[in-house]
Order: sequence, then structure tokens, then C-alpha cells
Amino acid sequence: MWLLFLLSRRTTKVSRCLNLGSYNYLGFAAADEYCTPRVIETLKKYSPSTCSSRVDGGTTVLHNELEKYVASFVRKPAAIVFGMGYVTNSAILPVLMGKGCLIISDSLNHNSIVNGARGSGATIRVFQHNIPSHLEEVLREQIADGQPRTHRPWKKIIVIVEGIYSMEGELCKLPEIIAVCKKYKAYTYLDEAHSIGAVGKTGRGVCELLGVDTADIDIMMGTFTKSFGSCGGYIAGSEDLIKYLKYTCPAHLYATSVSPPAAQQIISSIRVILGEDGSNRGAQKLAKIRENSNFFRSELQKMGFEVLGDNDSPVMPIMLYNPAKIPAFSRECLKHNVAVVTVAFPATPLLLARARICISASHSREDLVKALQVISKVGDLVGIKYFPAEPLKQ
Ligand code: PMP
Repeated sequence: MWLLFLLSRRTTKVSRCLNLGSYNYLGFAAADEYCTPRVIETLKKYSPSTCSSRVDGGTTVLHNELEKYVASFVRKPAAIVFGMGYVTNSAILPVLMGKGCLIISDSLNHNSIVNGARGSGATIRVFQHNIPSHLEEVLREQIADGQPRTHRPWKKIIVIVEGIYSMEGELCKLPEIIAVCKKYKAYTYLDEAHSIGAVGKTGRGVCELLGVDTADIDIMMGTFTKSFGSCGGYIAGSEDLIKYLKYTCPAHLYATSVSPPAAQQIISSIRVILGEDGSNRGAQKLAKIRENSNFFRSELQKMGFEVLGDNDSPVMPIMLYNPAKIPAFSRECLKHNVAVVTVAFPATPLLLARARICISASHSREDLVKALQVISKVGDLVGIKYFPAEPLKQ
């Protein structure tokens, strides 16, 4: 997977680089033999935009078909789609929650969740990242809070987590989180931006990977900007929840609907993932992203890097720690035509800077070996190999 990368902000010089930075998990962001002709056909038939909100003529047959597809893909009764993933979180939470409600959010949840939670006016409490026992502590404190045990001071309690954390590469401890939520009768909200399509035997995300019944998640959120190579976001849940959102959510009532070609790209990529295009490419892509991710992670570890995250996760942060190492690391990688994303404060704590690698099914083994050789050399130069190394496998 290659991209043209602007080498410097001050020049217009561009160079062809191996892309280790974008969320193109299944490779659908490139031309695809099944998706692309259908997207072009849709563009000709419907134009790039509906120029209308969903309720003012912006609902085409494609939008209805998309919502049905998404609901059945994530195994929920119904779904609603929005033009942007960020807006999905930031517009939905104020509709569902308000004064007198309690939101308990993982400390590393995405900014769209933080903004949505703040905009809702609900009380917000944070639990330590991916630690179910701390979630329980926060819940006990908020429910009992010196009151008799039978007293429940909140109208609604919602616990918000992500399937794969985008700066950590970690899988959510979902079964344990659900057990705590059930015990304290809190609703669950799962953001699958980085996990839907990317993990699970048939690409159905962390629930499938971790053997969680989707009936145990009240609100399933995800985006189409990663595994599906498109744009937009969705909420999936009960028929009642989705009907309520369709009547009340301003981002549904007042914002322009998903662009028809983008909707077609999502439908077509889901069809490929499920093998409904008549090929085995979806299953092959899923096997490839898993194999690529596990190969790259274990090779980086053998080289002596400190790599965060879990097996099967395509997101793998390499720890730099000192933010002063960021410019040298990214510049040296770029000199060898390898484009990586580096992340620092405020996206991470000040002394936990990192390079965040995103693996794709469209990376070949040759691409990955080249990238490993470059990263190893640059790692020696910048001094970020914190463990003893083993030799690189070809
Ligand atoms: N949720 C999470 C966890 C994300 O990482 C992102 C963006 N990367 C979003 C929501 C927003 O999605 P989008 O970029 O599709 O607007």
C-alpha cells in the first residue's frame, strides 16, 4: 500500500512512500474490482451529494439499504447512518443523555466521545483505561454514594468503551466490562471505529473476536472511514432506539445525508467481506490483515522495540517516550520512503510519545519486511530499542 507523501511543508516535493499510517485496514480505500465500478455507476446515477437532509428528500433507496445492511452486519435489529463518524458520537450522546444522567467513560476514549459527553450536560466520570475493576469502583461510588443501597440517584447510566483503542492498539476487555454493567444495570455503548471490519472471523469486530453476544451491547457505534474505505458513521441497536434517534437526532434531521457514492462503497465492501460478491476475497482480506498484524508486531518485538497493544490488533504503537525523538524518527523513516504517524501530547501523556503503525490487508510481505528493515535502522539511530534483539526473519 503506497501513497504520495508531501516531504516538507515548505516545499511541494512529493515522494512515493509505503503507507503505514492510515486506517485502510482491509485495503478498500484503493480501487477495488467489485466496489469501484458500482461506486462510479452510483456517482453517475445519483451525483456526489443529495444536497438534502435525510428528512427533506435526502433519503435514497441506497440509504435505506445501507441501514439494513449495517444492522444485519453488526447483528442488531436496526441502524441509523450519519455523514461523519465524529459527528455520530458527538451528536448522539447529547440526544441520549442529559442532566441527571451519568456517563462513565474510559479514560482513553476518543475526542468525539469526550465532546459528545460534555455536550450532553450529563455528569461525567472517567474510569482507568480498560480496567473493569476500576469501572466497578466508580459505579459503586456513584450509585451508593453514602445513600441507602436501594437509592439510585441517576436517571440513566451509560458506560462508553472502544473496541480497539486507536492510540494503544489494545482490545477492549469487553466480557468483563459487560459483566460489571449488568451487575449495576448500566447501559453499554461500544465504539467500534477501529475494530468493525478489521477483526473477528467474518469481520464483525470485537464482539465476534471475543465471543460477546451483541444483545449485551445496548448501543453499537462504528465508522465507515477505516475498514470500509468510505466515510460516515452508524449507530446500531434496538428498533425503538433507532426510531427514537430518527425522530430526535439533529444530525439526522438537519445534516446532509451520506453521499450516495460513499453509501455504495460501504454496501459493496460489506458484500465483499461477506462473500456476497461471489468471491473469497473478503475472507482472504480478513486472514491477511490478521497474519500481517501478528507478523509485524512479533518482528518489532523481536527487534527490541516496546510495542503496545494485543495480538490480532492492526494498530501497533512503537514507544518513543521522549517527544524530542519524534522529528528524527519520522524524518528518517520518510527518507527511506516509509510514512509513519507519530503521536504526542495532547493526544498522549507528555512523556508517552509514540509512532503509531496501522497495518493493512493490502500490505504485501515484501512491504512489511522493507518497513521492518527501515524501522530497525531508524530505531538504532534514534535509540528506541529498549529490549535485546533477535534476528529478522525474511
Ligand atoms: N471514534 C474513534 C474511536 C475514532 O478513532 C475516530 C477517528 N479516528 C472517530 C470515532 C471519528 O471517526 P471519523 O474519522 O470517521 O469521523
